Amino acid sequence: MRVASPPFDTEEIIMKNLADIFEHTLQDVYYAENAITKALPKVAKAAKSAELKKAAEEHLAETKDQIKKLEQVFKSIGKKASGEKCDAIEGLIKEADGLMEEAEGTALDAGLLAACQAVEHYEIARYGSLREWAKDLGHDEAHKPLSEILDQEKATNNKLTNLAVTAINKTTAAKKAA
Ligand code: FE
Ligand code: FE
Ligand code: FE
Repeated sequence: MRVASPPFDTEEIIMKNLADIFEHTLQDVYYAENAITKALPKVAKAAKSAELKKAAEEHLAETKDQIKKLEQVFKSIGKKASGEKCDAIEGLIKEADGLMEEAEGTALDAGLLAACQAVEHYEIARYGSLREWAKDLGHDEAHKPLSEILDQEKATNNKLTNLAVTAINKTTAAKKAA
């Protein structure tokens, strides 16, 4: 028995099985990818590093393509593509927005790069779950595009890691030289 106590007494159980959570999470990432397409141009504009700018621009193009892939996935399960507000991505983007207001120079670039990686990690977690659930549910057509997106998020995260390491090395080398 559920004991009704505020603020939970207005909550209703609407997901009961794997198909329900799969669809819900699909709507969650669809919302997130759309939010990311609005956030990445701001990162590209604010970043001082040419490499970080380029990485943000390249991933923007990929993200737009991912939205199309997600629309394919919705279609393959007989559902209309729709988004549901994702609090996690809202929070991550809010943090990045805060950095753009409060940081400059090296702090801004290092912070933005870390914020981008946090988003990629979020996406890797989500697409990892979605891909496995697609398999469990026998959604063979959905499995491929979800795997492709997961690979793109992993590759982007690796690219950002390399950028972080290179930038740190550069800073260390500059310190040694000084
Ligand atoms: Fe993405
Ligand atoms: Fe969410
Ligand atoms: Fe991404």
